[in-house]
Amino acid sequence: MTGKESKVIVGIDLGGTSIKIGIVNMTYEIIAQTSISTNAVRPYEEVIEDMGKTAVKLLAENGYDLGQCLGVGVGSPGTVDSENGMVLYSNNICWDHVPLADELSKYLPVPIYLNNDANCAALGEVVKGAAKGCQNAAFLTLGTGVGGGIIINGKIFEGGYPGGVELGHITNGSEGRKCTCGRYDCLETYASATALINDAKSMAAQHPESELWELCGHSLDNMNAKVPFDAAQAGDACGKILIENYLRHLADGIIDIANIFRPDVIVLGGGVCAQGANLTDPLNSYLEENCFGGSVSYIPRVVTAQNGNDAGIIGAASLVQV
Ligand SMILES: [Zn+2]
Repeated sequence: MTGKESKVIVGIDLGGTSIKIGIVNMTYEIIAQTSISTNAVRPYEEVIEDMGKTAVKLLAENGYDLGQCLGVGVGSPGTVDSENGMVLYSNNICWDHVPLADELSKYLPVPIYLNNDANCAALGEVVKGAAKGCQNAAFLTLGTGVGGGIIINGKIFEGGYPGGVELGHITNGSEGRKCTCGRYDCLETYASATALINDAKSMAAQHPESELWELCGHSLDNMNAKVPFDAAQAGDACGKILIENYLRHLADGIIDIANIFRPDVIVLGGGVCAQGANLTDPLNSYLEENCFGGSVSYIPRVVTAQNGNDAGIIGAASLVQV
């Protein structure tokens, strides 16, 4: 069997539970993929051996030899030294100064690139996704926390030292919410999915008459980020207040990012993005009214990410530039 593409890239999305491995073509479309369990309690050498051998097998099964592989991109959680291909620290997989690129090159003797998974997701949306064709983009994930990445001139902005930006930890509200980073009132404490869920739970607890109860099956344990959006859509007063507050905080954070970087586009990722226009329409109106310079300057559009479940593989593969 011979693969149809003359050159391919391998993208590896390293996660705490599983490792997704994919082959992409020169336009970053996934042509084959597989997944293995991380089983992070093993020595890191074993995890990386498993990762490397599975990638080589996937290439062979699809008719590609290593000579056709332009390179391997790996997206890792945690703090990453991209220059030296090292995972400095990752909470999710309990890694401390792991020389991932060196170790992986034992099995995959091709150029290997490593970066933080949020940075990868940002670049992935630029090479194939909501920011395609943009030279400058900001990416914000709204999940358990708020993460993100900044792309400047088509490249991940990492600052003077590898590591990139922490967009979730810019100051936002004024309620004195303690953040996991040790500071108070970070954007993450107002704009993450976790924050919205916690706010919805306290709102429901104070308002037994609210639609929120019906929508979460009368148990706060079932509360998720969709419930307050659905309540607001249904005209519920509590839902409306929750979403108004949520969007205002998120918009303020986005405006700060826009005022600092003035990207072409701001891409939102994470589960909350399933809200689509319910999320982006009010945010775009807020930006138009409140971005510095108003109508005389360029106001970046807020859009939702397009790579969805493929974001990990495409983002990692995007580290290998064609
Ligand atoms: Zn913080």
